[in-house]
Amino acid sequence: DTAVSLSNVRKTYRIGEPVHALDGVTLEVPRGAYIAIMGPSGSGKSTLMNLVGCLDTPSEGTVVVGGRDVGALSDRERTTLRGTEVGFVFQTFNLMPRLDALENVALPQLFQNVDRATRRDRARDLLERVGLADRADHLPNELSGGQRQRVALARALINDPAIVLADEPSGNLDTETESDILDLFDEFHGGGTTMLVVTHERHVAERADRIVHLLDGKIERIEELDGADEPT
Ligand code: ADP
Ligand code: ADP
Repeated sequence: DTAVSLSNVRKTYRIGEPVHALDGVTLEVPRGAYIAIMGPSGSGKSTLMNLVGCLDTPSEGTVVVGGRDVGALSDRERTTLRGTEVGFVFQTFNLMPRLDALENVALPQLFQNVDRATRRDRARDLLERVGLADRADHLPNELSGGQRQRVALARALINDPAIVLADEPSGNLDTETESDILDLFDEFHGGGTTMLVVTHERHVAERADRIVHLLDGKIERIEELDGADEPT
């Protein structure tokens, strides 16, 4: 069973000289996999995440997410697919500054036709899972970096996405907080969520079962990590 499949994907930006941000990428991500993406700045990591996250479409080749060919969908269909299949965790958290933690977590459900009481119950549930039940009514600027990241993670999971995309999820965090966040990733991965994590940090990447190394828009190599085939 495949969560994400890219075949011969090319993404070309044409502002002046054409740039192939991705150049012939083929990658199968099985359901439930935990994959880290590494590579120098400009190697195509964000472009890859944007395609898998249905934020963008390939210039050539196909991207299939949750069984749908992303390039063949209308903008509206892509938005729907993104809302149901994908949860995003950004380095800068992207929390709404005037909404409290609970409201931030509940936000993606606004677009899913769920009533307010159910939204708040579910948001409270998730805050509990990330260990922030007692901070539900705090605004983002009243939370530490690690707490904000946990709010962002809870929000990413509220629509029960099949795939979680995290871009440098622990870049701003101290070692202990980082390891808490990565433990949460392990927990969600253990529950069957497919994880794709972009990171510059080797020790973060090593939580995954496979590291995809990008270089100049191409897959340079795929590294299988020890224990990847052991049941968890
Ligand atoms: P990474 O995330 O690994 O740093 P990116 O995917 O952001 O790499 O970028 C890959 C290449 O595509 C870079 O050369 C970058 O300058 C170019 N690029 C990315 N996004 C755009 C864009 N919106 N317009 C033009 N060029 C872009
Ligand atoms: P944690 O250990 O939970 O990550 P830190 O205290 O290490 O929290 O802070 C991480 C980042 O968040 C730092 O950049 C810090 O300046 C910022 N930060 C922490 N607490 C607050 C706060 N109450 N208001 C604004 N920024 C904060």
